[in-house]
Amino acid sequence: MTDLHARTRAVLPDWLALYYREPLEITHGEGRHVWDAEGNRYLDFFGGILTTMTAHALPEVTKAIAEQAGRIIHSSTLYLNRPMVELAERIASLSGIPDARVFFTTSGTEANDAALLLSTAYRQSNQILAMRNSYHGRSFSAVSITGNAAWSPTSLSPLATHYVHGGVRGRGPFADLDDAEFTRACVADLHDVLGQAGGRFAALIAEPVQGVGGFTSPPDGLYAAFREVLAERGILWIADEVQTGWGRTGDHFWGWQAHAQSGPPDLLTFAKGIGNGMSIGGVVGRAEVMNCLDANSISTFGGSPVTMAAGLANLTHLLDHDLQGNARRVGGLLIERLRAVCAQQPGVREVRGRGLMIGIELTHPGTDRADPEAAARVLEEARRGGLLIGKGGGHDTSVLRIAPPLSLTVAEAEEGAAILARALNEALRPA
Ligand code: PMP
Repeated sequence: MTDLHARTRAVLPDWLALYYREPLEITHGEGRHVWDAEGNRYLDFFGGILTTMTAHALPEVTKAIAEQAGRIIHSSTLYLNRPMVELAERIASLSGIPDARVFFTTSGTEANDAALLLSTAYRQSNQILAMRNSYHGRSFSAVSITGNAAWSPTSLSPLATHYVHGGVRGRGPFADLDDAEFTRACVADLHDVLGQAGGRFAALIAEPVQGVGGFTSPPDGLYAAFREVLAERGILWIADEVQTGWGRTGDHFWGWQAHAQSGPPDLLTFAKGIGNGMSIGGVVGRAEVMNCLDANSISTFGGSPVTMAAGLANLTHLLDHDLQGNARRVGGLLIERLRAVCAQQPGVREVRGRGLMIGIELTHPGTDRADPEAAARVLEEARRGGLLIGKGGGHDTSVLRIAPPLSLTVAEAEEGAAILARALNEALRPA
């Protein structure tokens, strides 16, 4: 065990999981690459959990941070804050939500907590609908809408949460149905839950593509069908775009746009990629809902000038270089390569995803049984080959998660696919 590993274990809580038998210390990065403390270079296909959105050490972002830090680091929301207003204006107009208001937080968890506070206050109800297999954060409120046992440390809850089907296409009781029947079955399940629970519901919260849950998603249009049912009852729709926002899915700028027939969500939460590593989260929503609180509410650090300057520079770079288009093109090529690679592997159950959000689900060959040990082995082998990837999925971590910065080049996609092919061969070789 390295000294830093031992010190980490001694001073930080046991539940703070680390990747790899010998955990990595990443010391610097550039573009799509990072280096560890021993000087090894890796192609980064996980971006610190989908957070390095454009590139490591992007000069515009680094410069914006340094310049803003040289002027003023903090003032609080009690004073006018130009970079915060500018970023809020950009996000409001990109959100697709009419007359939108934006509130900044420091994390995705806090963004979802704010959305829960807003929706429950607006609707005067603590009943929430969430998706099975969901993940929305680590706080007391976020954990209580998390449909994934591995990330639910307590069942105590400030909310009455009811879980509905639909987030996982390839498993569960409706997996064998075709897309239209699957959607109909999930809508029927939603009606059933609404009928059984009685009372008023505040909102349904959903990740358009489930992140921690293993990059699973419903057929396009499912959330639009849900929305029609919800709208009849005045129930709000919260899209958690913490992983899916900013063009990561390639086809769309927001994940909800794959379900756009019934209009935009009432509230949309974001975090991770927008700050490229600076801690920005937030919620954007209809003014009527955003303005419903009748007591003060602030975030001391939310919208801090340095993070906002970074977010503005990062977003400008993303839009100017059409990184959504890049995610679509390079992601399309990458998933094709990975499908070809995995076609030879009996331990791969499914390769799925959209844009630069690609999941590879591993099972014991010839069965439907998840194989988390295989996933851990592939991670180790990929690292040995010079590639960092992530993992996730349901109640057992058996899905490889691939989510590089959105500036990934074709050459890097090819290189990463080749490393992963070798890693799969090594890790899934029959004993
Ligand atoms: N929502 C989703 C969909 C997430 O993936 C995450 C983080 N993995 C969160 C919320 C929580 O974000 P944070 O870790 O910044 O609190």
